[in-house]
Amino acid sequence: MSEQNQNFRAGVKDWIKDNFPSTLKGQNPATVGYAAALEDDHDLWRQRLAEKGWGAPTWPKEYGGAGLGQREERTINDELSNADAFNPIPGIALMGVTMVGPTILDYGTEEQKIRHLIPIARGEVKWCLGLSEPGAGSDLASLRTRAVDDGDHYVVNGSKIWTSGAHQSQWCGAVVRTDPDAKKRNGISFVMLPMDQEGVDPQPIKLISGASAFCETFFNDAIAEKSDLLGPLNEGWSVVKRLLQHERQSQIGARTAGFRSEPMQDLAKRYIGVDGDGKLNDGDLRQRLTKHLIDRQAHSLTLARIAAEAKGKVEVSAAASILKNSATNVSQTRADLTLEIMGDQGLGWEGDTFDAKELETVRAWLYGMASSIAGGSFEVQYNIISKNILGLPETTQQG
Ligand SMILES: Cc1cc2nc3c(=O)[nH]c(=O)nc-3n(C[C@H](O)[C@H](O)[C@H](O)COP(=O)(O)OP(=O)(O)OC[C@H]3O[C@@H](n4cnc5c(N)ncnc54)[C@H](O)[C@@H]3O)c2cc1C
Repeated sequence: MSEQNQNFRAGVKDWIKDNFPSTLKGQNPATVGYAAALEDDHDLWRQRLAEKGWGAPTWPKEYGGAGLGQREERTINDELSNADAFNPIPGIALMGVTMVGPTILDYGTEEQKIRHLIPIARGEVKWCLGLSEPGAGSDLASLRTRAVDDGDHYVVNGSKIWTSGAHQSQWCGAVVRTDPDAKKRNGISFVMLPMDQEGVDPQPIKLISGASAFCETFFNDAIAEKSDLLGPLNEGWSVVKRLLQHERQSQIGARTAGFRSEPMQDLAKRYIGVDGDGKLNDGDLRQRLTKHLIDRQAHSLTLARIAAEAKGKVEVSAAASILKNSATNVSQTRADLTLEIMGDQGLGWEGDTFDAKELETVRAWLYGMASSIAGGSFEVQYNIISKNILGLPETTQQG
């Protein structure tokens, strides 16, 4: 590690030590839920991170970030994790930090960047995304929600589905049809519209995991200001393609279900037991677990190599589709193995006979099913890889 990196890491460590409220140790809302009793401490920590620009560290300083590279961002995340701390801002902003914000950086006007990026980077506003429709998921270009020019604004009518966090969000980035006569990928635009208006009605959908993470969202004469058109009129297809690349980029870390701090091999030994040589008692499971650990390491090393090749710059490309599928494979296999290792204890839904991590495991396993669908399904990523990386002809989409 260079002296510069070492100094940066030491500075991050000291800053976290001086600023992270000790009451929040291990209280990451993303894993243990939000502790309302600690609301003031949560807010203080959010504000301190926001002042430092570490809500979205790679964004330019003038838009609320810290102007850092990916390497520095990873160092911050490492040191937060080492201190049992966390960055709550991406979770608060929902689709803001990982998807809408980077797309505004790519396509926004200066005025849009100032107006929208700063509140996102400070964790002061939640964003949702209105892309999918009941008749337009993988084939997104078939979308039918219309936006009609009405002077200084557009009037939006239609419905979106699976809009994550729509019922909690203040803003929505939506793809809408602005030219119904154009070929289907040409007459689409990307608009940003406030959720708090009469014409927007998000209806939560209940999931098998018990949560209601997303909605069907109805637009009835909703208003989107022309100053909130992102990118050129009728060229929203390019904007949304870019946004989806940012989404995939944010999904490639192979997040894992439950027991984040305990290595899988230790977990297996604890639940299954070991033989006289100290080897896991189940030879078949031992082999599959070993293969999973190798796959996971290969995925992590590939990510590290790509980050190093990008020389710390934040870059997105079609390769994100490869990594998204690889991350999904790794995290779903890990969730399957975790359930298998725990046996009956991994299947509890409630009750005193299960500890908190066992209860979390089955929910995480169920939610993990979504990772091969959200952000474009497994098969759709393979289509992108075959066309954009391997140069094979497109055979699945018309128009
Ligand atoms: C957790 C989660 C969060 C989500 N959040 C949002 C959100 O915030 N905003 C939003 O707009 N959407 C969101 N979505 C929706 C998501 O983008 C869509 O579910 C996804 O694009 C697939 O669309 P679909 O559900 O209509 O399935 P379909 O497109 O109907 O696909 C059904 C099946 O057919 C396969 N298939 C379809 N087309 C092809 C093809 N050309 N070649 C090969 N196989 C094909 C698919 O792989 C899939 O297995 C979310 C989904 C999930 C699971």
